[in-house]
Amino acid sequence: MKYSLIAILFLITNSLTAQLQDKVDFIHGKVNIKIDPTDESIAGSVTYQFKVLQKVDTVFLDAQNINIIGIKLNNKKARTSYSGKKIILHKHFKANKTYTLDIAYSASPKQTVYFLGWKDDVPGNEQVWTQGQGKYTSHWLPSFDDMTEKVEFDMDISFDRTYQVIANGNLVATKELEGLKKWSFNMDQPMSSYLLAFAIGDYHRKEVESSTGIPISLYFYPSDSTKVEPTYRYTTTIFNFLEKEIGIPYAWQNYKQIPVRDFLYAGMENTGTTIFSDSYIIDSTAFKDRNYVNVNAHEMAHQWFGNLVTEVDGSSHWLHEGFATYYALLAEKEIFGKEYYYWKLYETAIQLRELTEKGMGEALIDPKAGSLTFYEKGAWALHILRSQIGETNFRLGIKRYLKKYGFKNVTIDNFMEEIKGDTDNELDTFRNRWLVDKDFPFEEAKKILIRESEDLKIFFELQKKIMTSNMGNDSIIKSYWQNIDSDRLKAKIIKTYHKSLSQEFIGKVIGNENVLVRQALATTLGQLPLDLKSENESLLDDGSYITKEEMLYKLWTNYPSNREKYLNKTKGIIGFSNRNIRLLWLSLALLTKDYEPNNTNNYYMELSGYTSPKYPYEVRQGAFQFLQQLIGLSDNNLLDLVGATQHHSWQFRKYARSLLDQLMEKKEYRERIDGLRAKFNMEELRYITNKLILE
Ligand SMILES: [Zn+2]
Repeated sequence: MKYSLIAILFLITNSLTAQLQDKVDFIHGKVNIKIDPTDESIAGSVTYQFKVLQKVDTVFLDAQNINIIGIKLNNKKARTSYSGKKIILHKHFKANKTYTLDIAYSASPKQTVYFLGWKDDVPGNEQVWTQGQGKYTSHWLPSFDDMTEKVEFDMDISFDRTYQVIANGNLVATKELEGLKKWSFNMDQPMSSYLLAFAIGDYHRKEVESSTGIPISLYFYPSDSTKVEPTYRYTTTIFNFLEKEIGIPYAWQNYKQIPVRDFLYAGMENTGTTIFSDSYIIDSTAFKDRNYVNVNAHEMAHQWFGNLVTEVDGSSHWLHEGFATYYALLAEKEIFGKEYYYWKLYETAIQLRELTEKGMGEALIDPKAGSLTFYEKGAWALHILRSQIGETNFRLGIKRYLKKYGFKNVTIDNFMEEIKGDTDNELDTFRNRWLVDKDFPFEEAKKILIRESEDLKIFFELQKKIMTSNMGNDSIIKSYWQNIDSDRLKAKIIKTYHKSLSQEFIGKVIGNENVLVRQALATTLGQLPLDLKSENESLLDDGSYITKEEMLYKLWTNYPSNREKYLNKTKGIIGFSNRNIRLLWLSLALLTKDYEPNNTNNYYMELSGYTSPKYPYEVRQGAFQFLQQLIGLSDNNLLDLVGATQHHSWQFRKYARSLLDQLMEKKEYRERIDGLRAKFNMEELRYITNKLILE
């Protein structure tokens, strides 16, 4: 899984609460379900084959709040109990015997399955999709919250035939009956329940293939055909690179990637079926600023590290997230070059040092560590391990490890044993320093960066000189500048020392450097050097949505007499999928006196309309922000805001709740919200009533 915001969430893995069941092995699961989006329910059956390893009197499955219609064991009525959390089968189960278990059930999952767009009037935006990790597949299917139970799942899903149904495995058949279409998927290999997934919606797809012949399906919304190339750029390059680098063939029949709206994370690596946030659907301009490459590579790497070999429990979570982060970084190194790789390591080293300095450092073996530790410290640990034992040994160890534990579960000890192999490498020091120690060894990391990266060697040298020399910062930077080729290094110098740069130097940078370096100036300069008007204006033409957004605002603020010119120049630009430029533009157009007075109402209606649940939550959040700061919220906006307090994405929910709290401090808003009561649904009403009582 990949978070879009680093280090905020603490990851509690399934295993912390899951109960082990080691006398029984579930082998095969045949799922046959019908999904009804109108009442957000799932109904159907699952048939499991399981083998009893040692005689036992109870066997259980996890099933959260489902409605059981019938349970049969070997085709006979079974003695069972159900607590609302676990289905327990009571019988004298004999060792070495295989049983067949049939469960007919229905469910109205409150989490794990998300239904979007079924209640609005926007055609084609309807979706249903799952998120198993951290949310429990057992909310929609009697299955296993414990990751060590690996089952070969085959799924049949019946749904309205006008939509595309996508799930793990090979689509082996479709059949139409009574207006519905039944999609049959087959898996060849076992996986943990949290990796089971489906996604349903209005999709087109592009088919590509890896160099080893694995079919790769790239899904997209029908209206996004021009964005397929930039969004999925380098997909086969990454796939081929990972297969070659890891040295073990991709283990699943095919690979699919499906964007969905308002996803909970950046992406989720369901087996062969990555679901990711459609905010990564981008055009060529956005590619430079914000692209899908890292998330693409991260979820793909999980197909080996996480899906093929799976942690026994959260104390080995490094084996998932550290590895996916590291291999994604290696793939990016292949695509964007060596220095890109080291800059990323440097940036994470700075974040990890901060955590250590605050006394909040965490060990990689701590199941309760945060994502910064599991992901970034985890990737650092692998970089160190690889340089310590050498590339050849590292690769051999990885191969041994994946071969031995493929389709099984692992601990960090299992990994360490295989990576050591029969070499006499002493790995205790590594283990203590990188896996057990809470602190991040920044000085050691810095030495490595200086030794291995040309850019960082120069950067640290420059830093030192600025700290120790009597010369002015501007002259020191100038003396380095002409010998630097790297745009990333130049951008970093600007971001770090922008306050020391002279106007003359800034003018030269704008005149001579490329988009990346100019962007560093556009985003960091708090105050534009007003004399450089034409230079500043030229930044508005750069092919970067970040630069354009920054400069539109800064130019509009700094040169009031030219506001109309800047607005005309950027009219119609949308920006990223969060519509960053359009939202800013509408706000500025409304604030600019006498700007297109005939259109004022249209512009207001457009901006105000973006708070509607029809739009992705990033757009809604932006619209709420601008409206609150500049104009105020209409009754419709307030209704949308109250609705957003119940949104399934915790980031957006949190934002909406805190904005609402802020508004309700004002009497006027409190009264208006109270007056809208009749329009709230039950959950909204309960939430608001509690708030009003507390006031
Ligand atoms: Zn991940």
